[in-house]
Amino acid sequence: MATLIHKDVAMDSLRNLEDIFARFPGIGPRQAKRFVYYILSKSPSFITEFISLIEEVRKATSTCTSCHRLFMGKTNPDSLCTICIDTKRIQTTLMIVARDSDFETVEKSGAYQGLYFILGGTVPLMDDKPEKRIRLQALLERISDSPALTEIILSFNTTPDGEHTTNIVKKSLRTLPITHNIAVSILGRGLSTGAELEYADSETIRNALKNRQG
Ligand SMILES: [Zn+2]
Repeated sequence: MATLIHKDVAMDSLRNLEDIFARFPGIGPRQAKRFVYYILSKSPSFITEFISLIEEVRKATSTCTSCHRLFMGKTNPDSLCTICIDTKRIQTTLMIVARDSDFETVEKSGAYQGLYFILGGTVPLMDDKPEKRIRLQALLERISDSPALTEIILSFNTTPDGEHTTNIVKKSLRTLPITHNIAVSILGRGLSTGAELEYADSETIRNALKNRQG
């Protein structure tokens, strides 16, 4: 009997681990299963190193209080990242992206010198509670606190979810007081339909920025 109970617990743990991997972006249940079996095939020292690396990276990472991106390195009293604290960046332009990985692609292109805001995801079509998925309220507060802003660039994938998110953010921006007369442009107009920002090359980002439209 005791062995049976033990087996059940082990099966539950195995399934829980699979469920965790299946929650990773872009990973389905079959890939999650492969991850679990890969980990199980490794030595105990690999597993110990894997766990401690995750903990180390987590401890060394902070979320910027202004743009909400994850960053590594020294924090300052305001917990601002290296970009938000850099006064050489163009302070009048704010680019809104869905995820940290999108930010990284744009930043790597070197084509953009303004500030960012990480929205935290996109909103699927038919979702009627967008505020639960994205940082809409924090975004409106960020804009309200920045009288210097003159342009907002919405930079989402040109997929149905990305376009739906663009429309939701555009609509929310209209609720800002009229004193915030900010031009809103859309980066996606310079990308082909179905394009994912994260995978765009630097030249494409540069062109998309040039051709952005309101
Ligand atoms: Zn920041």
